[in-house]
Amino acid sequence: MPPKTCSTILLRNGLLATYSKGDDPLSVPATRRVDVLIEDDRIVDVAEPNSLKLPQYYFVIDCSNKWIAPGFVDTHRHVWMSVVNDQEDWTLSEYLCKLSWTTAALVTAEDVYLGQLAGCLQAIHGGTTTVVDHFHCANSVDHIEQAIRATDESGLRSMFCIARQSLPTSIDPLEFDDDEEVSKMQMDTIVRLSSRDKGRLTADGRVTLGMAYDVQGINSAEDTRIVSLVRSLGVRPITAHYVGGPQAPAYSKKVRAWSEAGLLKDDVIFSHGSGLMHKRCDPDEWKLLKDAGASIASTPEDELGMGHGNPVAYEAVRRGVKAGLGIDSASITSAEMFPAMRFALQWERGRMHEALAKDDQAARYNSLTAASAFRLATLGGAEVAGRSSDIGSIEAGKLADIVLYNAESINLAHCHDPFKGIVFHATAADVEWVIINGEIVKREGNLVRKNWEEVADALRRSIRAVQERVAQYDLDERYAAAMKFKRDRAEDGVEASD
Ligand SMILES: [Zn+2]
Repeated sequence: MPPKTCSTILLRNGLLATYSKGDDPLSVPATRRVDVLIEDDRIVDVAEPNSLKLPQYYFVIDCSNKWIAPGFVDTHRHVWMSVVNDQEDWTLSEYLCKLSWTTAALVTAEDVYLGQLAGCLQAIHGGTTTVVDHFHCANSVDHIEQAIRATDESGLRSMFCIARQSLPTSIDPLEFDDDEEVSKMQMDTIVRLSSRDKGRLTADGRVTLGMAYDVQGINSAEDTRIVSLVRSLGVRPITAHYVGGPQAPAYSKKVRAWSEAGLLKDDVIFSHGSGLMHKRCDPDEWKLLKDAGASIASTPEDELGMGHGNPVAYEAVRRGVKAGLGIDSASITSAEMFPAMRFALQWERGRMHEALAKDDQAARYNSLTAASAFRLATLGGAEVAGRSSDIGSIEAGKLADIVLYNAESINLAHCHDPFKGIVFHATAADVEWVIINGEIVKREGNLVRKNWEEVADALRRSIRAVQERVAQYDLDERYAAAMKFKRDRAEDGVEASD
């Protein structure tokens, strides 16, 4: 039985699949057999197979039947949402009314702890080693602290972005009576946490502090004050939703608004970014993003189903804008990044085939490869998170965030190309080992830090308790009231906010 932790790990003779710094995002890197040496939290050597001299104290993993790949970097996930459910058939408008404006207010700090813990473990199980966590259940200081505690306990690397947000006290009309008080609580907490070892929320630096800021328009002095303040404290990234599809309550030209407020910088991540392809889009927004070095976090699986607008990850790559992928929420779609890669790639291929078909043309080849989706989910995500010097690829000097796939599994044994195998055929069941920060957190298919059965038991109890509290409300009645409010505002010439 291998030790729980070991300061030196040798991955022996595995087939390496990784992008490296400087590779063209649309190229396909060569795969090769290697030894990978890990000391403490870092990769210290990537060498010819069976070439490394064994150090004195080490733990060796025979990788002759494994693929060695970087862990996934999920650039947009609401991790706590594993404690809510039944959202798979919702549209985005339903989600806003039933989850954001109702259920989220009924979730206790203990529920958040369990949802967050389960959500982090689900991520690790599927080979995700880093998340940009948009934490939009910041109802109290305790909610925030419990989410951080769960993240720390799980072993996942997280850029924990506390939302400056408010919960409505009324649906029709939509009102946020206590916004000033809530804002003070959230901002005081962000300021206090940012002073904790320069925003390192855990001693090993695995969990760091970011902010989520979904205030519409971002054109008030207060918006500027808040964003400038957190930036001055070294809090990053700053992430905001930006949608623009059929279900989007409004098209907001959010990139332009941030730019005109002087707030668009390379630490800003817009999730979805579908406003960039809206029928009333402002094409200059792409250039504003590129010039500022700001990024897109695309979550294609739920964007397509809920009506956020269509996925823009590849359009961003084409335009030289940094782009990554995410799952958004495990209560809506799969907790794994594999479907996110497939949806992003196949949607884009479909879009290209459709464009050609309009002119009675057909493609002879697919110009986008499976490997390009793998890049979006690994090094591309690291670039979005502003961490590409540390994570996202297997290179000497980087943090050891590594996934070992069982290349002889039922899903993968027929594949000889790990990029194609990982993107099109793998599931969490094929993720055999996960190493984060040099620590083995999934070993031979099993989570190391927590007993999943115990977590699942407590999680189910919490889910039931949340459902009982939500049952006091008629969600469809509230949804109808919210839609009426939106219609009335539109008739008055006022665009509702997202
Ligand atoms: Zn989201």
